[in-house]
Amino acid sequence: MNGRIFSVILLPTAECNVACDYCFEHKEPHRLSSALLPLLTRRLLDHLEHEGIEECEIYWQGGEAMIMGPAWFAEAGRIMDTAAAARGRRFRHFLQTNLIGYSSAWNEVLHGMFGGELGTSMDFPNTHRKLLNGDAAGYTKTWTRRLHEARDAGIEIGVIAVLHQGSLDVGPEAFYRYFTEELGLKNFQVNTPFPGGPANHDGIHLDDGELGRFLAGLLDVWMERGQGSGVSLGPFDALIQHFTGAPARLPCIWKENCSNQFISVDAKGTVAQCDCWVTSYPEAFFGNIFREPDLTQMLRTSPARRQFVERPKHLVEHEDCLACRWLSICHGGCPVRTYSALGTMLAKDPYCEVYKAVFARAEHHARALLRDRIRLSRQATPAASSTTIRAPKVAAATS
Ligand code: SF4
Ligand code: SF4
Ligand code: SF4
Repeated sequence: MNGRIFSVILLPTAECNVACDYCFEHKEPHRLSSALLPLLTRRLLDHLEHEGIEECEIYWQGGEAMIMGPAWFAEAGRIMDTAAAARGRRFRHFLQTNLIGYSSAWNEVLHGMFGGELGTSMDFPNTHRKLLNGDAAGYTKTWTRRLHEARDAGIEIGVIAVLHQGSLDVGPEAFYRYFTEELGLKNFQVNTPFPGGPANHDGIHLDDGELGRFLAGLLDVWMERGQGSGVSLGPFDALIQHFTGAPARLPCIWKENCSNQFISVDAKGTVAQCDCWVTSYPEAFFGNIFREPDLTQMLRTSPARRQFVERPKHLVEHEDCLACRWLSICHGGCPVRTYSALGTMLAKDPYCEVYKAVFARAEHHARALLRDRIRLSRQATPAASSTTIRAPKVAAATS
């Protein structure tokens, strides 16, 4: 067995019960049948065995995953976990939902299969997430009520916020206050937007300089008030860990190669790199998990996947990433953000300049933290040498 993490983004349906402006899903009325779950599970377990991987993370998403209902999930969890245990493997399940369909009927499966946690999404201010035949204000009201109900039921909630022009306009201070003070969250993350597939992309493009300044400002606010006080704000928390030499789980956009860890499978069995690719770009599908008997072979031989595997090498040969001091943390960024902006994944991430601003700010804060730790350790034990404190990681091998 090796310690490699393998993650499957599983989309049991592309249907959804709300209508976000920037949605790139093809909302087909197709649902994953429980009758196909044993086959899907067998294919995944075969792959884990071939690769010597013990544990597989399953990220249940949609569409809207809660459309499947709690009983469906309880049965899915039972089928998958029983089959995994019989082969000495383990699935860990995570749920990402818009929360609109949450009720107390979900509590048992959330506390069991999902370990008492769920992930959801909300933006600030919310202008793009709307109820079906409703508006953004109605969405925010319903979502906030569900958030409180779920939290009252003892469920820990993490929130993803997609940034848009309105977020930049209100500024990092108000943005941070909304999530931490108004909603009382201890765990949220910010994502950069990108125009996957056919959708209404009005307002999705953000000015790099403005976005970089917003993120650096948000990082400052979090460092002052949340870091060290129990507020987790991604991806900054992972960056601070990285730059202070602690083990860090960086988001997929900055992994050495996301194709080493992720695949996504939709309700029809389509396999692609992640949910963005499954729902938007048929030309980049790897194959079909129900029709092809060997997932390992599919991943090894898929011409579409080869591009993902070879992208980092291509970038250092053809882009300026090789001369970038952040290469060892960024690796050229996210393939789908690149593809959706440029029509090819064989280029560096269009958010390059934004990432540079964020890395520089995170490194600055990490150095200050390390200096503080050294000072405190010297005060506590005057004879101690500073060599007992771990030095910050060098951001890149070059430059
Ligand atoms: S919740 Fe997700 S799937 Fe549903 S409309 Fe919004 S972005 Fe699309
Ligand atoms: S394409 Fe981008 S969003 Fe998808 S897994 Fe790779 S890094 Fe993550
Ligand atoms: S920050 Fe830009 S230049 Fe540096 S590795 Fe990332 S994409 Fe390449």
